[in-house]
Amino acid sequence: MPMKYDVVVIGGGSAGYVAGSVLARNGKKVLVVEKDRFGGVCVRSGCAPSIFLYDASFFLTRFTELGNYKGISIDVKAKDPFKKRNEVVDYLSTAGEKLVEDAGADVIKGEARISGNSSLLIDGKEVEFDRVVIATGSSPSLPCIKGVEQGITEDEAVNLSFTPTDMVVIGGGFAGVEIAQFYARLGSTVSLITRGRILKCLSEDARNAILTSLEWDGVKVIENCEPREQDGKVVKATCGELKGEVTVYATGRKPNFPVGLNLLDVNYNSRGIVTDQSMRTSNPKVWAAGDVVDKERKVAHSAMMEGFISSLNILGRELRIDRLPVPHVIYTDPQVAVVGDVNLATSFRRFPINASTRAIIYGLTEGYTKLGIDRENRVVYGEVVSNNAEEIVNLLVLAIKLRMKVEELALLPLVHPSVSEVISNAARAFLNLDVDVYREKR
Ligand SMILES: Cc1cc2nc3c(=O)[nH]c(=O)nc-3n(C[C@H](O)[C@H](O)[C@H](O)COP(=O)(O)OP(=O)(O)OC[C@H]3O[C@@H](n4cnc5c(N)ncnc54)[C@H](O)[C@@H]3O)c2cc1C
Repeated sequence: MPMKYDVVVIGGGSAGYVAGSVLARNGKKVLVVEKDRFGGVCVRSGCAPSIFLYDASFFLTRFTELGNYKGISIDVKAKDPFKKRNEVVDYLSTAGEKLVEDAGADVIKGEARISGNSSLLIDGKEVEFDRVVIATGSSPSLPCIKGVEQGITEDEAVNLSFTPTDMVVIGGGFAGVEIAQFYARLGSTVSLITRGRILKCLSEDARNAILTSLEWDGVKVIENCEPREQDGKVVKATCGELKGEVTVYATGRKPNFPVGLNLLDVNYNSRGIVTDQSMRTSNPKVWAAGDVVDKERKVAHSAMMEGFISSLNILGRELRIDRLPVPHVIYTDPQVAVVGDVNLATSFRRFPINASTRAIIYGLTEGYTKLGIDRENRVVYGEVVSNNAEEIVNLLVLAIKLRMKVEELALLPLVHPSVSEVISNAARAFLNLDVDVYREKR
C-alpha cells in the first residue's frame, strides 16, 4: 500500500521547511522530502556560509582600523574561518530538519520523482498526496565552454576549506562580487570578469561604491569580458588569459524541476514554474514556492514568504504575495540593500551616512541612503549603501508595505543616535528638514 499524505512538500530548503512546518502545525498529515541535507542552498551553500566568510573578512580588514579609530590596539590575523563556518552550517541544517519534525511532519531523505497526478516515487517507494508543494529550489547554471568542469560553482566556492593563492571569478552578479571580495580580503589575488557590467541591476551610485571598494581590496575587475575556455589553472577569455588556482563560475542559476514534472500538467518555462500571487500553479493540486518559481529576486526571505503564503492558502486562506517590499542585500563592504520599484518613484532624495551621528561615533561612514516617492508622496523605493544596510533596509520594507507618506516617515522618532535614523533623515530631505546636512549659505 502506498503511503498517503494530505500534503507532500518536495524540498527542505527555505520555502519547504516553512511550508511543511506550517501545514503540520495546523493538523495536516504532511511529508517533507529532501534529497540532500535540510536547509537548502541558503543554509548549505548560500547565505549562511557566504555571510560567515563575509563577516570573517570584514573583521579581518576593518577591525584594526576601527580599533585605531577608537584609540585601542587590535591586531587581527586570519586563522581558520572555515572550520567554524562548517559548524554553523551543520547546526542550521540539523535545526531545520528538527524544526520540521517537531512541527509534526514526517521527513524522508531521498529524491522525489513525480509518477502521476497524485503520486510520486522516493527511491522506488510510492507516496500519494492530495496536494503537493514543489519547493525544489535552483542550481548553478554553467556556461557551455571547454574545460568548465575544471572550475567550481558559486555553491562550492562558499564551501572551500582554504584560501586559494589566486582566484578567477566569472560572473558580476551578487554571488560573484561577494565571493570576489571576501576571498580577496582573506588573502587571495582575485580577478573578477563579467560579460557586461558588474551589478548591472544597481544604480550607478551603488555600483560605483562597490567598484571603489573592490579596487581598495585589490580585486581586478574586468567588464565586458567572456570566458572562452578553461585550461587547468588558466582561463582563456575575450580580454586575455587569467590565472587562478581556483576558478569560480558564478554565472547564474536554473530552477530544479523534479523528474516527471510534466505529469502534473503545470505551466513552466526556463525561468521556473508559473504561479499566481497565491502560489497556485495551473493545476489546483499543485503549489510552488521559492527559487523554483518563475519570478524576479530569487532570495531566501521571499522563498520563506512563499512557503507561508502557499501553506496558509492550502489551509483555506486567500492570501497573495506582495513583491514590492521584497528587499535584496549584497553582502559587500559597504553592504548594498535595495527595496521597492525605482520605476514607481517620481522624486528622489539622499542622506549621506557621514552625516549620521552614530556612524561618526562608530567610525564607518561610507555610503548613503536614497529614497524614492511617488506622486502621492508615498515611499516606493529605497536604496541603502552602508555598513549594516541589511538591518536598516528592514525599516523601508515596513514603510513601503504600509504605503507610508514621506512626512510620516520623516517625523518618526527613531532612536538617536542610531544608524537606521538615516531612513527618517532621508525622508526629511524631501521636506527641507534634513538639518544634519550642511547647506550652502543662500
Ligand atoms: C552563494 C549564494 C549566496 C546567497 N546569499 C543569499 C543571501 O544572503 N540572502 C538571501 O536571501 N538569499 C541568498 N541566496 C539565495 C537563497 O539561497 C535562495 O533564494 C534560497 O535558498 C531559495 O530557497 P528554496 O527553498 O526555494 O530552494 P533551496 O534552498 O535550493 O532548497 C531546495 C531544496 O530542495 C531539495 N530538492 C531539490 N529537488 C528535490 C527532489 N526532487 N526531491 C527532494 N529534494 C529535492 C534540494 O536538495 C534543496 O535542499 C544565496 C544564494 C547563493 C547561491
